[in-house]
Amino acid sequence: MKISRKGFLEIGGLSLLAVAGKTAIGALLGKVEAETGSQPGAAPATRWAMVVDPAKCAEKDGCSDCINACNKAHNVPVIKDPQHEVKWIWREPFENALPTQASAYTEKKFRGKAVMVFCNHCDNPPCVRVCPVQATWKRQDGIVMMDWHRCIGCRYCVAACPYGSRSFNWFDPRPYIAEMNPDFPTRTKGVVEKCNFCEERLAKGQPPACVEACKEKALVFGNLADPQSEVRQLLESRYTIRRKPELGTQPDVFYLV
Ligand code: SF4
Repeated sequence: MKISRKGFLEIGGLSLLAVAGKTAIGALLGKVEAETGSQPGAAPATRWAMVVDPAKCAEKDGCSDCINACNKAHNVPVIKDPQHEVKWIWREPFENALPTQASAYTEKKFRGKAVMVFCNHCDNPPCVRVCPVQATWKRQDGIVMMDWHRCIGCRYCVAACPYGSRSFNWFDPRPYIAEMNPDFPTRTKGVVEKCNFCEERLAKGQPPACVEACKEKALVFGNLADPQSEVRQLLESRYTIRRKPELGTQPDVFYLV
């Protein structure tokens, strides 16, 4: 049977997840089972999701720990020009990030305060549908992946994403990388990139870099398919909203309000 390069990467990642499921991530993120163990048609054993607590971010206004950790882990270039910047995780004013929740009477603790936003790893991702070369796809565990070698830079996905979660490298990003991580690939001019839910860290049994870096515990990551996971417990006990729910993209990133 011929296996495509993308399929090979997926299988490799899932195999590592099977091993990692019994290690640290099991304790940190909830019970994890290898997706390859799922029966055809059965619900996936692992479904990654993030819960963000904007109130905790607001308490530490201006904190960039999660952004710095992500940039360092993924060789994200720091380009000041907003026309050309590359963003995996970034701040948006509450009113922009969650407009349906904002009004003239928005709670003071949220008014004008930054909310952390990133790729929502949507269950119904329009970015995946429009890619003409399958350089982006959704895995069974919920992560919307990208193959930078396959990307032809058409930017259809950038236009299709209603959250601005994808960035295009208008020029070689390497000179703008503050501290090179030799364990993660760099990108080239003409390629789109975005948050990958730290799939490379999950494969090693580690939580996402932003989650690990946040001392306020404003970011909680885990397995939606595990009723005992912290994300499930939070979703079942607190009121949460998602960004632009009216679009039907079904984000896997939830905000506590
Ligand atoms: Fe795609 Fe944007 Fe949804 Fe991420 S947030 S999965 S880039 S549509």
